[in-house]
Amino acid sequence: MRTKFAYTVEALSDGVSRVLERYISEDWRCNIWHIKGRDRDLIIDTGMGLWPIAQDVVALRERNVIAFCTHSHHDHAGGFSQFETRLSHRAESEIFARPNRNSTVAELLNDKVITVLPYEGFTVENWCYEPAPLTKQVDEGDVIDLGDRTFYVLHLPGHSPGSTGLWEKETGLLFTGDALYDGTLYDHLYHSVPIALCESLKRIREMPVNTVHAGHYTSFDRNRMQVIIDEYLSGQRTMICPSKRG
Ligand SMILES: [Zn+2]
Repeated sequence: MRTKFAYTVEALSDGVSRVLERYISEDWRCNIWHIKGRDRDLIIDTGMGLWPIAQDVVALRERNVIAFCTHSHHDHAGGFSQFETRLSHRAESEIFARPNRNSTVAELLNDKVITVLPYEGFTVENWCYEPAPLTKQVDEGDVIDLGDRTFYVLHLPGHSPGSTGLWEKETGLLFTGDALYDGTLYDHLYHSVPIALCESLKRIREMPVNTVHAGHYTSFDRNRMQVIIDEYLSGQRTMICPSKRG
């Protein structure tokens, strides 16, 4: 059982904080991004949600929060139901509303992922996140307005059909979810389309990005972004044989 807060919070530049689930292994837990706005806050991805995030993360208490999920996989959308305002891409709305272990790829979980069990009787073999129907479906070009900051929705399919990124032009911040992170890209899942991922990555490669805040691992600059993308496009960082990309 947990002994203290189940989340760690790290303040970065540009008013962005990175929230991490303390009891999920480093190679599995997603980055939960918190951006404070004048009129409302934005949470990008919600982790597995095995602990009450809005109570544990002090800055979220009594704030008006928009929760945005980059896609419906269990490591990003597990905590989604804890928020009243839930935005994600229309292509995965059915999965958010009726999640199961197959559709959320929770069937990939193993015993090593959760280092402290969240409650008695919890078993990793049976868990799936709570239904979290979207309160608003978004698509390419939609805007999320925090009062003093504006984020644009980018549709970046490939990892999953409804994968999205968020782009803040003024700061050059790009949030990529699992479309891009500094690791081997998961392009082999049941609804992954590697050729679509290639197109999504080619698109963001040309953007005037300052910092990529990815779905997993550390953040990086534009040069590093282009290296990672070029490596993927040349057949590295893939979970499948490059010849099967179509
Ligand atoms: Zn994913």
